[in-house]
Amino acid sequence: MLIRGVNVSQKKILLVEDELAIREMIKFAFYKSDFILLEAEDAETALVMIMREHPDLILLDWMLPGISGLELAHRLKKDDASNEIPIIMLTARGEENDRIRGLDAGADDYVTKPFSPRELMARIKAVLRRTTPEKDGILELGGICMDSVKHRLSVSGKQFDLGPTEYKLLHFFMTHPERVYNRSQLLDRVWGGDVYIEERTVDVHIRRLRKALTEFKVEHLIQTVRGAGYRFSTE
Ligand code: CA
Repeated sequence: MLIRGVNVSQKKILLVEDELAIREMIKFAFYKSDFILLEAEDAETALVMIMREHPDLILLDWMLPGISGLELAHRLKKDDASNEIPIIMLTARGEENDRIRGLDAGADDYVTKPFSPRELMARIKAVLRRTTPEKDGILELGGICMDSVKHRLSVSGKQFDLGPTEYKLLHFFMTHPERVYNRSQLLDRVWGGDVYIEERTVDVHIRRLRKALTEFKVEHLIQTVRGAGYRFSTE
């Protein structure tokens, strides 16, 4: 569908980056893509653009003048109007701790500078792939079908129910597959950061979720990664 030369199905990507050279490089990478690239030089401008343009994904530089990228990610994920927008952090920091801090802030992925345009595009597509199905309401992964509009779950056409927390947990896993999350990250993302809950609670709900999935022989999808946490994996 075309309206004034703009394909309405084109996804809008907002780039928040203060360094001109990196903006130019990314702009070049986008030149022949199907995406529309929007740009902001700082977090304050980005906030205005996010409310106005509703981008489909945000590429967010960690080191920004004023409000940092990390702080902006925190704010966006706390706000109902923006917490569904996936974020890829652009970071010069390759250290494990910093990566974890970025993911804790709610980022969906990160790319370490220097990165190639090809790598960036691949990450953007991967993040959009795993976050977009949510909008249609239907998620299908590992044999499990989740209709988040009707709040229905099924395996091979057979419906089943879950408690509200197990449902939220499974929804989080199905939208963030193949990635390990520790207990505190799961508490933040599934239960919400403001409540104080013991980390052991996560294990209890994981156990319940697995038990429910056992009936359909798909409990192996929820994997325990020793010393690290849990992962939803179809591999
Ligand atoms: Ca910067």
